[in-house]
Amino acid sequence: MSDLVRYSVIETKNKREIVLLQGLGCRYKNCSFCDYYLDVSDDMENINLSALSCVSGKYGILEIINSGSFCELTPSTFEVIKKVVYDKKIHTLIFECHYLYRDEIVNLKELFRDFKIKIKLGLESFDYNLRENVMKKGIKEDSPQIIAKDFDEANFLIGIKGQTKQMILNDILLGLRYFDRICVNVMCDNSKLKADLDVIRMFCSEIYPNYKDNERIDFLLDNTDFGVG
Ligand code: SF4
Repeated sequence: MSDLVRYSVIETKNKREIVLLQGLGCRYKNCSFCDYYLDVSDDMENINLSALSCVSGKYGILEIINSGSFCELTPSTFEVIKKVVYDKKIHTLIFECHYLYRDEIVNLKELFRDFKIKIKLGLESFDYNLRENVMKKGIKEDSPQIIAKDFDEANFLIGIKGQTKQMILNDILLGLRYFDRICVNVMCDNSKLKADLDVIRMFCSEIYPNYKDNERIDFLLDNTDFGVG
């Protein structure tokens, strides 16, 4: 996965720069729909340096994703991030995090105490059965309020066999109630799971048109729509 595009500018809605860095690899690795954790390499520090060197500070907001959780980034990568965000006058940083590592958010906020830190949760769905028994997400909590407590934003996934229109609508409504912003990702086939095309067709024709202009929702109809990956 060393040939991935690792820097981009998102020019719609919440305008920001985004980098796809490499960490030590997702600690969890159990999600049934994901093979992103294969994005690891010995050249990690150079890859991260190169992606971060593209950051211009254009919008003052930088989203940092790493095919896992922020706590899998190395101390050296954090040093480079720090230098770049001070140099480029970034004011807001968005990191992603699995629910299991939420206790580590406090340390991240301390490390970047001069910046506004937003944490994006890989939630995928509020539907417990779909999320835990099918997606194997590892969030053993049912209450939306408790799940959202430590997080500002969340990712949701569309295109899993068994996912219904009502589940997706419920996810969008609860997502907008409990998070500042949400990102709705349409599943792409990968080495672990094939997307359910009927679910995706239903989403694209019956749900997406009603929400596509909502400023608080990013839609990734293809997983490279942010320009990285
Ligand atoms: S979705 Fe995230 S937490 Fe789950 S296996 Fe993939 S990288 Fe790890």
